[in-house]
Amino acid sequence: MDFALTEEQKLLKEGVRRIGRKYGLEYWREKDARHEFVHELWRELGENGYIGLAIPEEYGGAGLGLLEMAMVVEELAASGAGSTVAQLFMITPVFGGLTITLHGTEAQKKEYLPAIAAGKKDFCMALTEPNAGSNSLEITTFAEKDGDYYIINGQKIWITGVDVADRMLLVARTTKRDQGQRKTDGISLFIVDPKDPAITTTPIEKVGTHCLRSDTVFIENLRVHKDQLIGEEGKGWRALLDTLNAERVVTTAGLIGTGELAIRLAVEYAKERKVFGQTPIGAYQGIQFPLVRLRAELELAQLMNYKAAWLYDHKQPSGREANMAKLIAGEAAFGACDRAMQTMGGYGYAKEYHVERLWRDVRLFRIAPVSEEMILNFIAQHDLGLPRSY
Ligand SMILES: Cc1cc2nc3c(=O)[nH]c(=O)nc-3n(C[C@H](O)[C@H](O)[C@H](O)COP(=O)(O)OP(=O)(O)OC[C@H]3O[C@@H](n4cnc5c(N)ncnc54)[C@H](O)[C@@H]3O)c2cc1C
Repeated sequence: MDFALTEEQKLLKEGVRRIGRKYGLEYWREKDARHEFVHELWRELGENGYIGLAIPEEYGGAGLGLLEMAMVVEELAASGAGSTVAQLFMITPVFGGLTITLHGTEAQKKEYLPAIAAGKKDFCMALTEPNAGSNSLEITTFAEKDGDYYIINGQKIWITGVDVADRMLLVARTTKRDQGQRKTDGISLFIVDPKDPAITTTPIEKVGTHCLRSDTVFIENLRVHKDQLIGEEGKGWRALLDTLNAERVVTTAGLIGTGELAIRLAVEYAKERKVFGQTPIGAYQGIQFPLVRLRAELELAQLMNYKAAWLYDHKQPSGREANMAKLIAGEAAFGACDRAMQTMGGYGYAKEYHVERLWRDVRLFRIAPVSEEMILNFIAQHDLGLPRSY
């Protein structure tokens, strides 16, 4: 077991930290206030090869893996971005890059991967539906075969980044749920154009993560050529699990970086702030101990996340590890932002001190992309072998 980073990983981390610092806390505060996409940062990450990290070299990427992507996301989150930056890496490098690398046809790889790696094509993913929620197998968006085309109808919700995306990874049924042999049969993945007139979107007002819009998406008679189907018709569930496991690892990386950043801000403040005489509040154990405990939890989650990423990159099952890491990181990162706010007293609640943005954004990741309850269900069933309650 080797815990040492390679020279390449060290350089990668240093390089992206420089970019992360350039687009630091103030940049994100302004973008959050204006509800604006971080175009400048994303462009620079593309130009420096970070978007195409896990895309094979023959398609213009760096040929690295999910482990390196996790390291990059951690660095960016910790440099000032907070957890929202993980969503940027989910929507294009994971939903687009990894899904097509692992399951796309040769023609799809040639068409999309070099453009993704160059930062010239952004993606989003439409899985969640108003009436299905966590129960993804209940989706009813349907793709009806029509010669060389599919005609797709349905509704999606919470689709993040759809307004800035060039393509959408659309999850639909090609067989109704009660007509397949297994409930996982009949799920198909399509690459579609979100700007097609058959697709309309409506933004949802939300608590945080304001640099990316999330929308309700209506799909009415969308015509998609069969060339845009990823993998075999009706056999998309396994491919989707690969995408979702990578999404968890990237989410967790963002959470770990955010927790680290929140603790750093709290510590800097606590060393300076004096309320009773000359003792800085950071000397009080009531201030120190909660931060220390959260620091320990974040480090443990990081180790587990690296393990999940390593397993993923070595084509081994990684769902158990990815879920466990996400569970602990979600709680610990939220705890870190909350304790940072508490440590800073009233200033923690002020926009100027940044922690309130981190706290608003990080809350999302206890619900999405998978809720804590669904992770607990997964571990209960797959790790402990307990029966399903639902
Ligand atoms: C800001 C934001 C961005 C998002 N971006 C995207 C995106 O880009 N693409 C996309 O496809 N989706 C996206 N989502 C959707 C996200 O993945 C879902 O919100 C999430 O999976 C939870 O589904 P739900 O909201 O329908 O909650 P529900 O499934 O309705 O669950 C509600 C509550 O019930 C609990 N619950 C449900 N079933 C069980 C059970 N069996 N046992 C115990 N508890 C249970 C859940 O844990 C949760 O606490 C986003 C969501 C948000 C809020």
